[in-house]
Amino acid sequence: MENGGVYRVIPVRNGVYAIDESGLSVFYVVTGKERSLVIDTGTGIGNPAEVVATLTGLPYDVVLTHGHVDHAGGTRYYNMVSMHPADRRQAMSLSVHDRSDYAERMRRANASPVTRDQIQNIVNPARAPRMLSLKDGHRFDLGGRCLETIELPGHTDGSVCFFDETDGVLFLGDSCNTMQLLDDLPQGRAARLERWLRALERCLSRCAGASLFCAGHGLLSPAQVLEARECGRLAAAGEIPFRREKRHIFDAEFASYRNSCICYGSLADLFAKDEGATPDGFGRTE
Ligand SMILES: [Zn+2]
Ligand SMILES: [Zn+2]
Repeated sequence: MENGGVYRVIPVRNGVYAIDESGLSVFYVVTGKERSLVIDTGTGIGNPAEVVATLTGLPYDVVLTHGHVDHAGGTRYYNMVSMHPADRRQAMSLSVHDRSDYAERMRRANASPVTRDQIQNIVNPARAPRMLSLKDGHRFDLGGRCLETIELPGHTDGSVCFFDETDGVLFLGDSCNTMQLLDDLPQGRAARLERWLRALERCLSRCAGASLFCAGHGLLSPAQVLEARECGRLAAAGEIPFRREKRHIFDAEFASYRNSCICYGSLADLFAKDEGATPDGFGRTE
């Protein structure tokens, strides 16, 4: 355990580490011969850069799979971060309140062992990082391994994946999951689902050699990835209905297939409507 018990490092494969941020999200460090790549920053409950420094002494780039609080909340611990421009505003506007609110909701739902003290201690490093733009096809050459950026809009407009073709590792962010959230897009629900499904199918056929699926909340088996895609296909075809339900920390309309489900809405709207999870004294800015 690192950083006051916030982070747990899990060696996944040669040169690939998963870092579990107390069940709030999982980010990754990928190491080549010359450079490393840090994929996502977590909620920023602790200092993610300190954990990264224990795993690699090489120079590294930091990339975001998307702009949600549980992946972009720790960006201020770095000097420079790359992400798709469509999610940039969301990532840059994240406050201590947003980060503590998410952590508190997860704590109350028993979805995270994060403690009230850890949430109270969330700070906002003063300096915002320099933001660079990522587009489809952008490559990160780490020396002996190369990761390619693949756009996969749907979970958010600016969601991207990263594929290490040599080692067959696909980093999915929240773009493919057993609980798949699809963010608000102006085109309407059917178009939103279609767009995500098309992008997912394009990504999976581009990454047909993938054998390890590193998603934003943990590893997925190939069977789980295929089941999530099938859930999308069935929902798009109208074969599984959407029903209003409370699940996890959300109160939303879900369509389910076996152990997978899909739901719509922005992250804030999806949160179960309650009295407001953030206790007094949280959300200060430092
Ligand atoms: Zn997300
Ligand atoms: Zn997430």
